Amino acid sequence: MEPRHSNRTTAERDIDSVLHPYTNLIRHKEVGPLVITHGQGVRVFDEAGKDYIEGLAGLWCTSLGWGEERLVQAASAQMRKLPFYHLFSHKTHDPAVALCDRLLGMAPVPMSKVFLAGSGSEANDTAIKLIHYRANALGKPAKKKIIAREKAYHGVTVATAALTGLPFNHRGFDLPFSGVLRAGCPHHYRFAQPGESEEAFSTRLAAELDALIVAEGPDTVAAFFAEPVMGAGGVIVPPAGYFPKIQAVLDKYDVLLVVDEVICGFGRTGRMFGTETFGIRPDMMTLAKGLSSGYAPISALMVNERVYGPVAEESGRIGVFGHGYTYGGHPVSAAVAVETLNIYAERDILAHIAKVGPVLQDGLAAFRDHPLVGEKRGIGLIGALELVADKAAKTPFDPKLAAGPLVVAKAQNHGVILRAMGDSVAFSPPLVISEAEIAELLRRFGKALDEAHGDLTR
Ligand code: PMP
Repeated sequence: MEPRHSNRTTAERDIDSVLHPYTNLIRHKEVGPLVITHGQGVRVFDEAGKDYIEGLAGLWCTSLGWGEERLVQAASAQMRKLPFYHLFSHKTHDPAVALCDRLLGMAPVPMSKVFLAGSGSEANDTAIKLIHYRANALGKPAKKKIIAREKAYHGVTVATAALTGLPFNHRGFDLPFSGVLRAGCPHHYRFAQPGESEEAFSTRLAAELDALIVAEGPDTVAAFFAEPVMGAGGVIVPPAGYFPKIQAVLDKYDVLLVVDEVICGFGRTGRMFGTETFGIRPDMMTLAKGLSSGYAPISALMVNERVYGPVAEESGRIGVFGHGYTYGGHPVSAAVAVETLNIYAERDILAHIAKVGPVLQDGLAAFRDHPLVGEKRGIGLIGALELVADKAAKTPFDPKLAAGPLVVAKAQNHGVILRAMGDSVAFSPPLVISEAEIAELLRRFGKALDEAHGDLTR
């Protein structure tokens, strides 16, 4: 029999064989895929050799850009020495230990132990399981409800998708299930009342959180999950005073704070962690993406003694901590992560972000005058422009027009890959991007925005 792929293009074979994540599967049959073949620096290239500036660092992850030879070396050396080993039942290996040790040393607040997994979803899923395990350990089996916010993104496993607060992660999947509570989204532009200052908005959200916990019963509420800057929800930077006010409410009712640093970790917001940028005191922190610059799948969950202590006791009582992934702490991924952290330190990535971050932010701010742009948001090397039909009234576009995806499609034609979250277009380029590359990215994007304006107002 003929092999299925004889004389057929990658795109044709893709349509026949790949079930794509985050894709309209019916539409995909008509439009087909963009086939990316290689990358260098902040650019990736398609089959025809066309270059694209990767304005989202892949999926917010490729912090060091493409072609970083030191990561290739770290992976191949580890692949030769010990391509697989695990951490189950009292085994260990040096790359995992080196990484956990290193992360504890970098932690912005005292942390006790690190659990390694393969993805952001797995790290957050593990956090949820630890919350349950801890509640049982403490003899408070009713204190297990978890609060997450509207527009949150914490992953797509059954449990983490339930925390995620975006409709298309729930629709059709029978999610969320009970036990998940929803808090308000700190999106000042969209959800503040007319004339309400950022501080006043933060105060109101904290009061609403307090009321939610009281209504549910503080003895039933275990934890609050939050991204420092909400990424997939549309790059929502918290309003002034938000986290200290929220933290005070959580402290009052003995509710744990899980900070999801999957996007913000490792420099994205200008400090090493979003936790530092916004003055947060987490009990657990989840890390992924920039941890290995996306070169190998790996994530980490850091827990403080408040979490680790009871969990360890419970495992002693039960006989085993019955949780772990085959690839958790994979030695090749761990070695790549350690080398990634070495590179961030040696090249002083934070100093670079301090230099180029304002170039991106100022460049995005310059689009505020554009007729399509309602709001510019951002900090460090993450930002977004929210598109609106009417600037003065902040009226969104009719969703049928798909204004955000239209701009992103046009940007792709002009050689810049971006992502639309509804009508917010997100920017999160590799952290190593230069000032000249930012200028080029924004120039290409500007052409797309002007073209989309023509189409949308025709
Ligand atoms: N948390 C946040 C904040 C994320 O942005 C993501 C992924 N975009 C996740 C968790 C889930 O990570 P993964 O896709 O690796 O499971």
